[in-house]
Amino acid sequence: MALSEIAASLYAWDLADETVERCLDNLQGLAGVNSAYLVGLMHKEKRPLHARFYPHNPVRKYYAPEDSRVYWTPRADVYTGRIKPLQSDRDFLSGTDWLDHLIGEARSRGMKTGCEISHTIIDAQIAREQFPDVLQRDVFGNTVGPFEAREAQRALPCLNNPDVQEYLVSLIRDLVLNHDIDYIQTCLVMFGSGYSASNTLNSTVASAGWSALLATTTGGCFCDSCKRKAIAEGLDWDDIVHELRHLNLVSSGRDLEEAHEAQLLRESNYSEGELLLENTALTTWLQFRRRSVDELFKLVTEAAHDARPGIDFRYNTYMAQPELAGLNFTSAFSYVDSVRESDYSDQLGTPEGVAVKRAKLMKARRALGYEKPLIAALGVRPNATSETLRNSVRAAVEAGCDGLSLGHYDGATMERLRAVTDGMRQWEGAESDWIHAPGEYA
Ligand SMILES: [Zn+2]
Repeated sequence: MALSEIAASLYAWDLADETVERCLDNLQGLAGVNSAYLVGLMHKEKRPLHARFYPHNPVRKYYAPEDSRVYWTPRADVYTGRIKPLQSDRDFLSGTDWLDHLIGEARSRGMKTGCEISHTIIDAQIAREQFPDVLQRDVFGNTVGPFEAREAQRALPCLNNPDVQEYLVSLIRDLVLNHDIDYIQTCLVMFGSGYSASNTLNSTVASAGWSALLATTTGGCFCDSCKRKAIAEGLDWDDIVHELRHLNLVSSGRDLEEAHEAQLLRESNYSEGELLLENTALTTWLQFRRRSVDELFKLVTEAAHDARPGIDFRYNTYMAQPELAGLNFTSAFSYVDSVRESDYSDQLGTPEGVAVKRAKLMKARRALGYEKPLIAALGVRPNATSETLRNSVRAAVEAGCDGLSLGHYDGATMERLRAVTDGMRQWEGAESDWIHAPGEYA
């Protein structure tokens, strides 16, 4: 199959600073982009993410966004619950529906359009002040989240909280009902995966299996909504809390007996399998998280398809080890229409990085089945090289992908955009590469 969709993400401030015409000219002209989406609900994350400064923004050197703002104009009547969307207070962004702005220009070029709800949907500071009850809690009742991105000090809402679910459904309905988008994409943070090695896609060095799994006991969630749901499912919540408090202390080393036990484990040949066999309440809780995430995917896909049956609900992966956040690809992917595998390991600039990408694509392909599109992300930013990008296109071809998705234009260089087209030609990613006339090569 061909890599028929070449997508690219844009931020509202890219459009404001560079103009939508210039952004799409560059993406279309150099990388063959035929699908553009706005990161319409963006979390607090310095842009560009890896490089200190923008390579081609004519207005500013870098940008520090507000937390979890929507960059379209929300329809107030859709948001009937407690939590409402916030718009930007920055002068150069307020008052414009940046999604419609992008859609207008993209449609005039015959492109697909989409919108992404990114990692977090609630401003962390406002959540702590106004909605502390919706935040994920660890097994001792502390809020969960700042470890996910230290500089952003995130506050993660619980996926099982009814107010959070209602808000998420409203966001999706607003986008699908009121905007001319082909796909709605999300990389919403799931359950906090605890204090271990970074669980982002760019962390290619996985921590030891059992210790990463054990660290989930320092994550979420043990809030009242989770407790109610677990008890309704017939689970012994007190037993779960009792066992996981012990495991939390072993993982964190925050008491003498538990720290000693952790020392023995680290100096032993302990395994993930033993951890699960020994701790049946842990296993029960991990399965409970998985069911919770599956049900969230079901809720989201039903909301999107109720709003418009033909909408494409695209999940955007964001974790090196999604299982540590409760996400099991095989069960959750039964509720999606397509997947963007968001690996950016090409940015390591090495063949090993490309191998990591290939492995993640194979994992997603197997879980997704063969009927739904799998879109491979390409990190077109500094640290990636033209060679790793061309080889990433090869990995996408070899993993049976259906498209590419560039992340992110703001940090891309023109050379790396050209590498996408070069890689497509080299690895024959387009159907036109397979159609030739007799005598053409004589
Ligand atoms: Zn919870």
